[in-house]
Amino acid sequence: MKYLVLLAGLLITMATRAELVILQYHHVSTSTPAATSISPADFKRHLLLLASLNKTIVDLPSAIQTLRQGGTLPDNAVAITFDDAYESIYHNAFPLLAQRRWPFTVFVNPGTIDAEHEGIMPWQQLREMQQQGATIANHTQDHPYLIQRPDNLTLDAWLTQQVDNAEQRIKQEMGQSNRLLAYPYGEYSLAIAEWLQDHDYLAFGQHSGAVSSQSFWQAIPRYPVAGAYADPDTLNNKLQTLALPVASNSLVDPALGSDNPPELRLTLHSQDLDPDHLRCFASGEGQIDHQVDVTGTTITLTTQATQPITQGRSRYNCTAPSLSKPGYFYWYSQLWINTSVENR
Ligand SMILES: [Zn+2]
Repeated sequence: MKYLVLLAGLLITMATRAELVILQYHHVSTSTPAATSISPADFKRHLLLLASLNKTIVDLPSAIQTLRQGGTLPDNAVAITFDDAYESIYHNAFPLLAQRRWPFTVFVNPGTIDAEHEGIMPWQQLREMQQQGATIANHTQDHPYLIQRPDNLTLDAWLTQQVDNAEQRIKQEMGQSNRLLAYPYGEYSLAIAEWLQDHDYLAFGQHSGAVSSQSFWQAIPRYPVAGAYADPDTLNNKLQTLALPVASNSLVDPALGSDNPPELRLTLHSQDLDPDHLRCFASGEGQIDHQVDVTGTTITLTTQATQPITQGRSRYNCTAPSLSKPGYFYWYSQLWINTSVENR
């Protein structure tokens, strides 16, 4: 009897495993840079696909809070986010999302809004979206490469200027402060992540993967789904992913040092994947070699590309199919930043 109760508990835990997929868009337009845009027609296709797959579109701040508290989310939870507050979001995405009453989050730069940059929404349009259930969150004051701190500023002064000041400005205009930050260009360092943790911010990158209760809360993955990734078929694959349960000692600073190509070593604990089915991939190189070492329930995965990383930003992605959820893949992405590339 005792074992039956244990087994039932295990099955319930597996069935209600809380996972979240976060989608990241910029422009929804055909007249903006292709690399960061999705056409209104493809955006509409994305929404139709989400609806036909019975995804539950969740409010990002409350979904993240639920995950952090170890609570459960609806099965198939998806959050929709937009970076930079481009006007095309207001004109082309907002009406479609409002029609479905789907919540979404816009990460904004108060500096560019206050300077009335062309193509950026004014506060009034953001307030209109907020009244319909949108969250307006922090994308730093001026959208810098956050890891490139001016020489005359301490890290604390730099992040106070870029993060705290932006948060205060958003609170003034929107009456709301969620302390959620999206890193400009998805770039962060472990020192920045630590400052944010100390100052009670959660932060989102642009490296891919699903989110679980074990995610690193200052490097939360999102799937970029514009540009080359706008195809609804590739979106479908991303929606069927789970967070690879990587231990926190696997966190690595994304800025490349002298070790290039870098070696990545991940420690993970999971009985829902076959270590023999782990695979790793590098941007521009496809599948790369890896070694797996299993000791008890601990899996150590080591991987390294063969070619040095020369582009500004690139990634290693490691995946493995789920044993309990056919068609689903565990996914982990490590960002690499090549700071010798100035415009990246
Ligand atoms: Zn941005």
